Amino acid sequence: MPITTEDTLRWLHQVAVVLHENREFLTQLDSPIGDADHGINMDRGFQAVIDKLPTVAGMDIGSILKMVGTTLVSTVGGASGPLYGTAFLRAGMANVGKHELHGADVVGMLEAALEGIKARGKAVPGEKTMVDALTPAMLAAKEAQHLGLSQLLRQTSEAAEKGMKATIPLLAKKGRASYLGERSIGHQDPGATSSWLILKALADTCG
Ligand code: ADP
Ligand code: MG
Repeated sequence: MPITTEDTLRWLHQVAVVLHENREFLTQLDSPIGDADHGINMDRGFQAVIDKLPTVAGMDIGSILKMVGTTLVSTVGGASGPLYGTAFLRAGMANVGKHELHGADVVGMLEAALEGIKARGKAVPGEKTMVDALTPAMLAAKEAQHLGLSQLLRQTSEAAEKGMKATIPLLAKKGRASYLGERSIGHQDPGATSSWLILKALADTCG
């Protein structure tokens, strides 16, 4: 069963719920290696997305995702707003006119999102950012293309979770955490954590 427009809306609602529930957790993660605002940023951004959903009623999945991108760019401060904004904009552009997403479309969406983040933030894997959750997630989706969509989404989410946990021993090379140098070691990256939550919500609602 492909991901429909309605599934996409259920996913976005779930992301808003989960980011709201994890607002304190994400902010706590951003406290030792950042400025303690990641949970606040993401919660604010996705509440704004939910408020704007009526403006995309009846539209295709690409248009919905583009709206998410422009909303995040305009409502989320900090590094994560432009980065997630670009990710959703690119994901939307890769799916313009589509009302259903199959496994290959999900792979294309993740590739486009990751390319957008890398173009904007110049991070490569291993620098303790959201790229460390999203890169293995995209690769897992690619590898799982021959399996059903449910399994693809589950394996993608699990790969993001592993990538997130693997940020703990890394030395931050990008963003505010990089100012701490060696002291950034031993902490889980907040952006990698929100990336996992977003992909887990996708698997939970569409898998
Ligand atoms: P800020 O750091 O401006 O306060 P947030 O706290 O909302 O913004 O987001 C921090 C997260 O953004 C980090 O945990 C990291 O995952 C991500 N991040 C920061 N800089 C970059 C970058 N150049 N490329 C990719 N991700 C980045
Ligand atoms: Mg921050």
